[in-house]
Amino acid sequence: MTPKSLLLNLHASSTHNTPVFKKDDLEDGVQAEANRDGTIFVNSKMSDKKIAKAVEHEKVHLEQMAQGRLQYSDDSVTWKKDTRSPARVYKRVDMNEGHPDFEWEAEAYKK
Ligand SMILES: [Zn+2]
Repeated sequence: MTPKSLLLNLHASSTHNTPVFKKDDLEDGVQAEANRDGTIFVNSKMSDKKIAKAVEHEKVHLEQMAQGRLQYSDDSVTWKKDTRSPARVYKRVDMNEGHPDFEWEAEAYKK
């Protein structure tokens, strides 16, 4: 993407530290995504109200990543409840990602 098209897709809920980009090519059923570089992608088809809610949720995941507790890779999710807990690795193919029973999701849904 060119810098110009990036700017055009910037959503109003963006902040200096957390740019929010509207995307029309997220995987099926995905509303939003938190990225390792501190950006958030949201599904451009959602209403602003829904986007705002999704952004709040994804910001919790960004915090968890910054704390070194949550890591996403292409095929796995690694979670440490706190710095003393052993890391648990979940294969993305086997899991129902985004399910509120996962501890990192429970924290984000509580927000
Ligand atoms: Zn989540």
